[in-house]
Amino acid sequence: MNMPLRDQTLESLVFDNSFVRQLPADPQPDNYRRQVSNACYSRVKPTIVARPKVVACSREVTELLNLQEEVCSSKLFAEIFVGNKLLPGMDPFAMCYGGHQFGSWAGQLGDGRAINLAEVINNQKERWVLQLKGAGPTPYSRRADGLAVLRSSVREFLCSEAMHHLGIPTTRALSVITTGELVTRDMFYDGHPKDEPGAVVCRVAPSFLRFGNFEILTARGETALLQKLVDYTIRTDFPHLGEPSVASYIEWFKEICRTTAAMIIHWMRVGFVHGVMNTDNMSILGLTIDYGPYGWLEGYDARWTPNTTDAHGRRYCFSNQPHIGQWNLLQLANAIYPLVQSAEPLQEALNTYNTLFLTGWNDMMAGKLGLMQFSPETDDALIGELVEILQLVETDMTIFFRNLACLSTDSTPHDGDGLPAALVEAFYKEEEITIDYRERLNSWLNGYRQRLQQDNLPDALRRQKMNNINPRYVLRNYLAQQAIDKAEAGDFSMVGELLELVRAPYNEQPDKAHFAVKRPEWARNRAGCSMLSCSS
Ligand code: AMP
Ligand code: MG
Repeated sequence: MNMPLRDQTLESLVFDNSFVRQLPADPQPDNYRRQVSNACYSRVKPTIVARPKVVACSREVTELLNLQEEVCSSKLFAEIFVGNKLLPGMDPFAMCYGGHQFGSWAGQLGDGRAINLAEVINNQKERWVLQLKGAGPTPYSRRADGLAVLRSSVREFLCSEAMHHLGIPTTRALSVITTGELVTRDMFYDGHPKDEPGAVVCRVAPSFLRFGNFEILTARGETALLQKLVDYTIRTDFPHLGEPSVASYIEWFKEICRTTAAMIIHWMRVGFVHGVMNTDNMSILGLTIDYGPYGWLEGYDARWTPNTTDAHGRRYCFSNQPHIGQWNLLQLANAIYPLVQSAEPLQEALNTYNTLFLTGWNDMMAGKLGLMQFSPETDDALIGELVEILQLVETDMTIFFRNLACLSTDSTPHDGDGLPAALVEAFYKEEEITIDYRERLNSWLNGYRQRLQQDNLPDALRRQKMNNINPRYVLRNYLAQQAIDKAEAGDFSMVGELLELVRAPYNEQPDKAHFAVKRPEWARNRAGCSMLSCSS
């Protein structure tokens, strides 16, 4: 008999802490900053805070844990998920990992402000790791405080749920809770520190392992432990690959190449820019992880990066994400090389990433255009020209693609000035729309209509398909900032409102239409809307 879905209380959650049970711990129990060798993690307790207050809670994530939604309003919930109280069976720890940051090896990083509480086994026998972010220092905090502020916590909470509802692999967020304490941050590292409200997010994922967890072991020459961790990972998170062996290590790496490519194609589909694709921020499960200075394309601009720290090199800009995905996979390949002892199969998998990416990109773009299938003879040029046109004038990516579905296949071709009103809505600056531009876009639209006629799909059906791929609502940078401004003033209502909004990003939601409009001018250069830093 199937168990009811929401039959658990906080006290009845079932824990199975496989990571701490199966992998070696740092023997040092005290919480001070240090290098930790020959261990995968250090046990550490979250820091007690003054006055936890729940800002928001995701009902879908409570459901994953089989918890009743009402649990979120209990005092116990706030105490547990801010880190003030542990349930029996919780065994909190911070993971040891390293990473390549902005292209250079950075040595040991580790969970500097993340603390894993426990692994929950739910009624469906799925494993969900609970992890607090911002719950105080750990041995990996280096020179930082282990804390997080409300602004970045709201951004992480809302965006991870938004990504999930967009159908994009991601870590999830159960809750965001203010601590009642202040945290000092110099938002742009320019000598203007400010006190901000502190907060803790509870993140939830099947595993929080990153490329960097494997890299650090290889960098230190800890090959036996590397094998232990890889074997654990395959047995726990990739059981379909069979018992660990050289052959399954290679299959494992291939799968990570596939899931990483698939994740990045999704990002490109919706205009998401991660902002800090360091190898410590790359999930072994191909999940979007570590929401920091991420952003959403407003005007379609391949070179856009939301991260001010990246503004100079643009390593992590929109169009460079696919390449960086592969560069990061190369670092992972180097990390597992000692177990495989042959470069060829790893290189082969890395080459496949290119092919997979290209095929995936073409299929994704064909989908966004409502084509039944990508046909290279016609569609390479069609897509290439569109990507160029989108960058000639500032064009809102989300509105453009969503509204493209409104086009009717058999309306008379345009030959002059008129542009479809639905598309005009996507332009930010009227004065940029020159005669040459109109002609170029119209000529593309005529070609596009002809291409649609080849498919001969009824318009209504094509619209429906397109509307399931091109969202009406994304978590626009300025919307998140408005919710943050209110939350910082003690009003959490807009966080809840945006959470509701992003639950159905492909639906029209007529009463929410004001959340689908272009970025207002005031937000063009406002901190938090168009410019972010790693400081969070
Ligand atoms: P990120 O850029 O957020 O991926 O962080 C890079 C590294 O810095 C990770 O090891 C984080 O745990 C650590 N880190 C970031 N912010 C803090 C903080 N406030 N306190 C301690 N460690 C931090
Ligand atoms: Mg990180």
